[in-house]
Parts: sequence; C-alpha cells; structure tokens
Amino acid sequence: MPPSPPGLRLRYAATSDQLVLAAGVFWALACNRPFFAAAAQAGANGGSTWRLTIGLVLILAALHILLAGLVSTRRTVKPVLALLAVVAAFALHFAQAYGTVLDPSMLRNALHTDVAETRELLSWRMAGDVLLHAGLPIALLLRADVRRRPLHRALIARALTLGLALATFLGALLWQFQPLAALMRNHKEIRYLIAPANVLWSLGAVLVADARGAAKPRQAIGLDAAPGPRWAAALKPRLLVIVVGETARAANWGLNGYARQTTPELARWPVLNFPDTTACGTSTEVSLPCMFAPVGRRNYDEATIRNSESLLHVLARAGAAVHWRDNQSGCKGVCEGLSSEVLDAATLPDLCDRDRCWDEGLLRGLEARLAEAKGTQVLVLHMLGNHGPSYFRRYPAAFERFVPTCRQDDLGQCSSTEIVNAYDNAILYTDHVLATLLTTLQAHAASVDSAMLYVSDHGESLGEKGLFLHGVPYAIAPREQTQVPMILWWSEGFGAGAKLDIACMQKRSTEPAAHDHLFHTALGLLDVKTALYEAPLDLTRGCRSQ
Ligand SMILES: [Zn+2]
Repeated sequence: MPPSPPGLRLRYAATSDQLVLAAGVFWALACNRPFFAAAAQAGANGGSTWRLTIGLVLILAALHILLAGLVSTRRTVKPVLALLAVVAAFALHFAQAYGTVLDPSMLRNALHTDVAETRELLSWRMAGDVLLHAGLPIALLLRADVRRRPLHRALIARALTLGLALATFLGALLWQFQPLAALMRNHKEIRYLIAPANVLWSLGAVLVADARGAAKPRQAIGLDAAPGPRWAAALKPRLLVIVVGETARAANWGLNGYARQTTPELARWPVLNFPDTTACGTSTEVSLPCMFAPVGRRNYDEATIRNSESLLHVLARAGAAVHWRDNQSGCKGVCEGLSSEVLDAATLPDLCDRDRCWDEGLLRGLEARLAEAKGTQVLVLHMLGNHGPSYFRRYPAAFERFVPTCRQDDLGQCSSTEIVNAYDNAILYTDHVLATLLTTLQAHAASVDSAMLYVSDHGESLGEKGLFLHGVPYAIAPREQTQVPMILWWSEGFGAGAKLDIACMQKRSTEPAAHDHLFHTALGLLDVKTALYEAPLDLTRGCRSQ
C-alpha cells in the first residue's frame, strides 16, 4: 500500500473531557440556529437581545456538556458523542426544513413512522445537513486518541468539567434571568428546538409514559352501554361508516368555499358540511385516540386517553359489529381487540404498489359487506389522504388536475404554487373516494340504512409562517393545522329511523364543531345508551324527535 500523505493521517490526543467540551460548544453554535432564530423573534420587541443570545449560547453549551459528561468515559465518549451528533443533525434538519418542534408527541409520531414514510422524507438537503453537522464532527472525533489517565485523575477532571458547566449554566441563568423567564413563560415550546437535548428529553418522556401505560391493562369504559329502543324498532340492518381523513385541512376544502373546487363530486351530494371544525391535535398520534375518546380536547389528558378503551369498544359492547380498515399507520390502540385489517398489496395488487395503496382500496368488498349486512354495524375507514410531504404520490394520474405540481419528496425543491397544486389534487382524490362510498351506500339504501361521517385528523401547513407539514404543539398551532373538514350524510331510511330533522341539522352544521363531538354524536346516531353520553356534545341533539 502506498503511504498516505501525512495530512490525512493526522491524529491528535485529547481527553474525554476536552471532547465533551468541544461537542457541547459545537452543538450550541452549529445545531441550534432554529432555536436562536425563534428566541430572537420572540424577544425582538424588548431589551438587548445580544446579551440574551450570549446567555443562551452559554446555557446550551453547558447543558449539553452536562448531559454528555455524565455518560462519557474514555471508552464510551466516541460512540456517545457520535450518536448525539447524528441526533442533533437530524433535529436541525427537520427544524430547518419543516419547522418541526421535537416535543414528546412529535417524537412519538417519528417513532411510529413506517418505512414508506421514511423513504419519502429522505432528500439531498437532508444528506447535506447530516453530512455537515454530523459527518464532519464525527470524522474529527474518530481522529482523536483518547488519553488514558489514572482513574482518580480522570474523576477529578470530570468533576471539574461538570462543575464548570454547572456554574456556567447557573451563572448565565442568573445573569439573564428576567428576559429568560419571560421567554420561557411566553414561548415555552421553543425549548423543544434545543438540539440534541430535545430528542433526549422527548424520548425519555415517551418511554416513561409508555412504561406507565404498559403496566396496566386498558381501562374499560362504558360498561353500561346498551342498545336504545331504536335498535328493536329498526326495520333494516344499519351501517355507520366513520371515515378518518388524513392531513386534509379546512382551508382547502371545496365545500368550505375554497377558491378552487376541490370537492366537485361531493358538491353534487346532499351532505351536511361543517365548515368550522376543530381537531383535537395536530398529529395522528394525538388526534386519532382523542377523537374516539369521550373526553376530547376539552379535558385532554394523553395518558388517560391512551390507557382507556374507545368509542368503538362502547359501540361493540352495545351490540354493534365493529370493523376497522386501515390504509395508514394503524388505529393507535383505538381498535385494540376488535376486528381490524390493513390494506396490502397481496390482496389488492391493482390498487397498491410496494409501499402504498390508493384509498379506493378501503372500499373494496363493501358491496359484499352491504349484501350480507345484519344488525347494527360500524365500519371505520382510515385513509392515507393527504399524508405529506409527498402529496403527488397520494392520487392516481387522473387527478393531476391542478398543475404544475411538486413532484419531489423534498418540498424545499418546489414553489409554493406547485406544493399547493399537489395538495389540492390529493383532496380531489379524497372527494372522489368519499363520493364513490356514498354511491355504494345509496345503491343499497333499499336494504341497508346507512350513514357516513367523514372528518380529517388534523390539518397541514403548506408554507404559511415558514411552516410545513403538521405537529406544531397544540397551544401555538396555526389554524391551518387545527381546522379540518367534516361532513355527515345519511340515507333516507337511516334519517327516518333516527328521526333526524334535516333543516335543524343544516342549521347546526353552520355552528362550530370539533373532534370532541364525534364520540357523543355516534352514540346519538346509533341510539346507544350509556352514562358516558353527554347530550351537549351530540351534533344531532335537538334535531332528533324522540
Ligand atoms: Zn394524521
């Protein structure tokens, strides 16, 4: 082998403390630009921000020195710092590219991302970000010869390093206490932009919550659920289809008066449209369990919701046959123990590729289900809908109507017009799937009384305020992420059985609604009696003659 040029063989000696110090300073300065930008914006109207910025740099460096210093020995320092460097680089990339705030619920989302979703998030920009902020420091780290020291000297040096970091942390905190306190009080969420500490903190929070939840079985709810008088009076089988949409936002919903007609097929159906509907969360992980829970956003408690049964268990307890059909990331525990299936290429080769199925696959077999229907049935269809960032992959070619579209997985490569065009085409496809569903239900209306409720799980940012995708902490989430489309339709027989007054329901649909209504409205529509039922949250309340 020819000898390498001396420059490439460069190695240097360092103690593990020096490496930890260097890493802490590097992360504070190089991987926290979104944090400093958010802090500067938040503090723009008061005081001298440069002092606060210096204080924050010291705090961030000291914080990471403390974190890494506690777990780095001569042997572990390289893998620990390399892993944290990769984590910091990814956190920085998502914060810069999409405005992602890595709080526990976003981390939970990320952990539950499947392979196909991950593939769509890969981009050259990501490769560049990660190479620069992780590859480069790791290359430098690997060239270090970590000095071996007697144990007592290593311990003293580490104690000094940690003591210095702690003193710096506290000193900077006291020095800038007033502006810092104001910043954290008014803009709590920006602490989740501190990388890589945000990922460690959120991961810890998720693991603790899961460990607590795993320790106990899911709490049964609605043990008193029983069929009401309309069950015995029903002349035909009844079917309620709940369609859970994905990432469709109210602002781009044609029926809501969006400048573009993105719902041309539904516009021809007599559906009730609820233009002012608020989601429970800004991510699937939060919204999905919440919308099927009795408590909703008004008494939101993640642990209670995660550890309790859902609306579907209550309906099943009353005697309904419940089935969940999924074309996305699963039912998040909402259908645990109940009948469920996931669309896949083996059963639907014409509608699926290696990664994904078109949402029309959710309707496959519905005719047979209607033909054999008996009793009361509840079918939940979980759509792939407008799942980003690759909106152009969510609809067949026939729905490429608003052009030009963004045909990249990396939204950063596209203009805002192209992104919105692709997003709107995906809504057009949802419109088609829902209208096809209604056509099928209507075709069987003589033999099955059916109703359909569609609601999206959360909205989406398409570049407004520099944000993309969704998952912004609820308290500060923009309307684009919290306002969702919702529609309700029922067959003539279903309306007659439930004694629904259409004029009254039309009036109700113009008033505000929320995910909080889903649980109680479903009980009302199907006439299930339980003490969990809260009449004020039933959208049909006052519109059903008893
Ligand atoms: Zn979602």
